[in-house]
Amino acid sequence: KGPDPDLVSIVERMATVKHKILVLSGKGGVGKSTFSAQLSFALAAMDFQVGLLDIDICGPSIPKMLGLEGQEIHQSNLGWSPVYVESNLGVMSIGFMLPHPDEAVIWRGPRKNGIIKQFLKDVYWGELDFLVVDAPPGTSDEHISIVQFLQATGIDGAIIVTTPQQVSLIDVRKEVNFCKKVGLPVLGVVENMSGLCQLLSELKFISMTDSGEQKDMTEWVIESMIEKAPEMLSFIAFSEVFDSSAGGGAKMCSDMGVSFLGKVPLDPQLCKAAEEGRSCFDDSKCLLSAPALKTIVEKL
Ligand code: ADP
Repeated sequence: KGPDPDLVSIVERMATVKHKILVLSGKGGVGKSTFSAQLSFALAAMDFQVGLLDIDICGPSIPKMLGLEGQEIHQSNLGWSPVYVESNLGVMSIGFMLPHPDEAVIWRGPRKNGIIKQFLKDVYWGELDFLVVDAPPGTSDEHISIVQFLQATGIDGAIIVTTPQQVSLIDVRKEVNFCKKVGLPVLGVVENMSGLCQLLSELKFISMTDSGEQKDMTEWVIESMIEKAPEMLSFIAFSEVFDSSAGGGAKMCSDMGVSFLGKVPLDPQLCKAAEEGRSCFDDSKCLLSAPALKTIVEKL
């Protein structure tokens, strides 16, 4: 049996890409896509030639996070052309191919694998310094095939994004073990939304009803804060009081022998920048998240 022709095409295609970084998370909603998007913005701002490949088929949010919603992919004789944010930042996402953003969620394994393979072999990136790959959450068969394909082309390693919540940290252990098992270097772990989870678990707002009953208003208070006074929430979330340096990602990393790249605080301004498809590094309001993200990128 000869070599897999798909693998041969992928290796050929990736020959013009210097560095490949896979961004992983144990579960959804921890900010993996936000991190991938801002990492790409940061590398592009450093004048690198950057490609961002979104294969998070479960919920392709990358087009929106880069301000490219509604754009379409074009095909040339060289392959599929990425959509460009700037001349040195190209993006490819399943989101560009769907009439409705929700559609991909119902795709099954083989179809997902097919499109991922096609992305790796058919997208014409040209010369790239960095290809950032935003992977789906978890460690499924999909991941094994992605990693195998990327390994054949020489991949630098994976960045794992997590939140400080215990369940998410357990998922990270699984991710680290997955990387060890498949021989993928872990470039490091990023703890995102640092502050929020401690905040939510440690703060309680109780009100007393007229009949003397206690009512837990915590959720309402936090939601109101997010809506009406996000600056206040980010101030609280960032304060060291809730930033238990003993636990969380840093401890888990030292236990598992992987690098801890740093914490990105919960920052409503980052959420807004992501929502509007902007780089937080160009936004003077992203006071909390931009410096933290910059420090992380510089460590890579
Ligand atoms: P995932 O890719 O892990 O599913 P997303 O990147 O889509 O997660 O993030 C989920 C939501 O959380 C998005 O609305 C995003 O803007 C927001 N978010 C992510 N990180 C932060 C942060 N550090 N501060 C505030 N909001 C954040």
